[in-house]
Amino acid sequence: MRVPPLKITCDCGEVASVRHGERWTCERCDRTWNTEKIPVEEYRGLMRDLRRYRLVAAGIAVVIAGTLIPLALLVNPGLVFVVPILLGAIAIFAGPYWKRKIRERVANRPRWELDPE
Ligand SMILES: [Zn+2]
Repeated sequence: MRVPPLKITCDCGEVASVRHGERWTCERCDRTWNTEKIPVEEYRGLMRDLRRYRLVAAGIAVVIAGTLIPLALLVNPGLVFVVPILLGAIAIFAGPYWKRKIRERVANRPRWELDPE
């Protein structure tokens, strides 16, 4: 999963997407914007949240597999093949919900006011 790039809107209205730590010089009015001025902790907070969403999703899959596989082996080893199908079904149903959560988190990302250099 990629971290969303920072969106810079220049005073003149020009818009650019820049990674954190990069500089951008507006082509229209020559102002330079330095994204290093953005508090790195706040930006990291966003990245941390996005990573957590991915880890939680992976964790749930591991827990389900870790519970069902031993259970299936005890009851009927043939059932082991049902586990990946079940995980796939959960991914299909929970995936859109999960993606919406991530999109909402990205949409609610903080905004910063920068001064041109
Ligand atoms: Zn500009």
